[in-house]
Amino acid sequence: MIDERREINISKCPFCGGTQFAHGYQNGYAAITRAKSLFKTSSIEHIICLSCGSIVNSRVKKINPFRKNMQDF
Ligand SMILES: [Zn+2]
Repeated sequence: MIDERREINISKCPFCGGTQFAHGYQNGYAAITRAKSLFKTSSIEHIICLSCGSIVNSRVKKINPFRKNMQDF
C-alpha cells in the first residue's frame, strides 16, 4: 500500500507572521502510537516557525498505520 500524504504548504506563521520554517522530528518513545495497536507507530513531523518558535503544524510521518482497519477506531 502506498503511504501517501497530501502535501501541505505553509507560507506564513499564524502566530507571528513569520515566513521561515524548519522541520523537526520526534522519534523513539515520543513517537505516536495508534490507540488500539501498540505496534503501529509513526514518527511525528513538526513544522517550526524560526521567528517565534511555535509549532505551526504537527503530523505523522507514516499515515498508513492509522488508515488500516478504520473500524478499529
Ligand atoms: Zn511564528
